[in-house]
Amino acid sequence: MTVVLLERGPWRDTVAVRAGGIKKCKPLPRTGGMFSVLRSLRRGKGPKNGIRLNKYGYLEMWIGDGIKVPCTSNVGGGSHIWAALLERAPQGFWDDRAMGLSDETLSLHYNRVERELKGIKPRDASAVPNLADEAWSNESCFAPLKDGEQPLLGILFPGPDGDLSAITDESGIVREPLDVNRDNGMFGSPGASKSTVDALFLLPALSKGLTVRDMHEVRRVSAGEAGGWTVEARDLRGGRNVTLAAPKLAVCAGTMNTNALLLSSRDSGGLSGLAALGKGLGANGDLIGKWPVEDRDTTIGPPSFGRVKIRGHEDSAYVILARGETPPVPGFLYNGARRKTSRSVEIVAMSQDAADGRIWSENGHIRFAFDLNGSSSYAAAMQAMDAVSETSGRPVAYPESEVLTAHPAGGCRISDDPNEGVVDGGGQVHDHPGLYIADASIFPQPVGVPPSLSIAAWASHVADHIVRSN
Ligand SMILES: Cc1cc2nc3c(=O)[nH]c(=O)nc-3n(C[C@H](O)[C@H](O)[C@H](O)COP(=O)(O)OP(=O)(O)OC[C@H]3O[C@@H](n4cnc5c(N)ncnc54)[C@H](O)[C@@H]3O)c2cc1C
Repeated sequence: MTVVLLERGPWRDTVAVRAGGIKKCKPLPRTGGMFSVLRSLRRGKGPKNGIRLNKYGYLEMWIGDGIKVPCTSNVGGGSHIWAALLERAPQGFWDDRAMGLSDETLSLHYNRVERELKGIKPRDASAVPNLADEAWSNESCFAPLKDGEQPLLGILFPGPDGDLSAITDESGIVREPLDVNRDNGMFGSPGASKSTVDALFLLPALSKGLTVRDMHEVRRVSAGEAGGWTVEARDLRGGRNVTLAAPKLAVCAGTMNTNALLLSSRDSGGLSGLAALGKGLGANGDLIGKWPVEDRDTTIGPPSFGRVKIRGHEDSAYVILARGETPPVPGFLYNGARRKTSRSVEIVAMSQDAADGRIWSENGHIRFAFDLNGSSSYAAAMQAMDAVSETSGRPVAYPESEVLTAHPAGGCRISDDPNEGVVDGGGQVHDHPGLYIADASIFPQPVGVPPSLSIAAWASHVADHIVRSN
C-alpha cells in the first residue's frame, strides 16, 4: 500500500525537521507580527467568505455566529500549536455509539498513541517552573489533585543534569529538551521539545514510503468513475491544480476544514446524501479566562502548567492553566510584550457541552453557529471562574456571550444511523465505501478534556480498519 499525504501548510523549521533532511520549510512565527502569523480569516456569518492573507501563515481564524475557532496550517497540524497535555476521554465515551466500537476497542489505541506521543511527567518537577501541582498549590482558590489526575505531557524534559543538547531517539528523531526560559507554546517549539506529528510520526514514515506533499490545498473530493476517490487540490507553491486518484481516502483536515470540504464537495456533486453532515457542532465547553498574577513570571515553564481544580467547583469543568505566550512581535518590541504577557495566566475550562451547534453551506458560503446558552456547563464554568476572582481578589476576565474554542468537534459524528451521523464505528462514511474521516469532527459529543489523545487514538483505530479492509 502506498500512502500520500496532502497538507496545505508548509513543513516548519524545527531541529527535528532540519535533521530529518527536509529542505523546504518555513520558520515558526517568532518575530514577524500578527500579519505574518495569520494564514486566513474564514467568515461563517455575514455576506463575505473570508480572505487568505499569507499562504505560508501559521494560523487560521474561523469566525462564526457565537463561536470563534483558531486552527493551524502546517505539516503536523495543530500539534505545533498545542500545549501537549495528554488526556483520555471520560469513561464510557466510546461505548454504545456504533457497532465495533467501545472503550475497550479504543483502549489499545490509547495505549499505543500515549506511548508514541511520549507522554511523561517531568522527572524533577521542582526544576520546572510554574507547574500546577507545585507552584500554584498555595493559591487558596485551588484544591489538590488526586494521584493520576494530572495529565501526562508530550514534552521532552531535560535529564537530571539539565543538559539541553539535542538527543537522537530510537527512531533517529533529533530533539532538544525543553528550555523553560524560551517560548515553546502556541507559536511552536523550534527545538522540537513538544511532541509533534511531523517529528514523531511523519519523518519516520518517510523512510517507509510515505509521500508528503506540503503546500497542497485540497479543494474537492469526489467518487471516482471506476470506483475509489478523486482528490482535486491546488499546489500553492507551484500555482497549479493537481488531481489524484486513490482506492481509499481518509479526510483529516480538522473539524472545521473537514466539514467545509465535505459540504462544498457535496454542493458540487462530488458526494451525495450525508443527511447528518454539519449536525452536532460542539465547542468542548471551552471557556478561556485571563487571570492577573502578581508574584511570578508566567512566560517561563512548559506550554501549559497542567491541571488545577477550583475549590468548591471541583466537578464543574476540567480546568488547566495555560502559560502567558509572548506574541510574535518584531525584536525591538519583544521585551515590552513579554513583560506585559508575564503578568497573567490563562485559566481554561473544558466540559462536555450540548454540541447543539451546526455548520452548513448556503449559496456556496460555509456558515456555522453555536450558542453557549444551550449548555448549562458554560454557566457552571463561569461560576467557577467567579469563585477564583472572589477568593483571590484578582478578577478573571472571560467572554460571556461567545465561545472561543481551540477544540471544535462534531459535524461528522459517529452513528450507525445515517440520519444521525456521518461515519460508522470504523470511521467509514455511510454509503461512501473507501472514504474515511479521522479527526475530531467524528466525536459524537465533545470529550470535555484536551482532545488530541482521543483524536490520535481514533485515527489509529481508523488506520487499522483501512489496513484490514485491503
Ligand atoms: C493554543 C492551543 C493549545 C492546545 N493545546 C492542546 C493540548 O495541550 N492538548 C490537546 O489535546 N489538544 C490541544 N489543542 C487542540 C489540538 O491542537 C487540536 O485538537 C488538534 O490539533 C486537532 O487535530 P485534528 O487532526 O483534528 O486537526 P489539525 O491538527 O488541525 O490538522 C488538520 C490539518 O489539515 C490541514 N488542512 C486543513 N484543510 C486542508 C485542505 N483543504 N487541504 C489540505 N490540508 C488541509 C491543516 O493545515 C492542518 O495541518 C490545542 C489547541 C490550541 C489552539
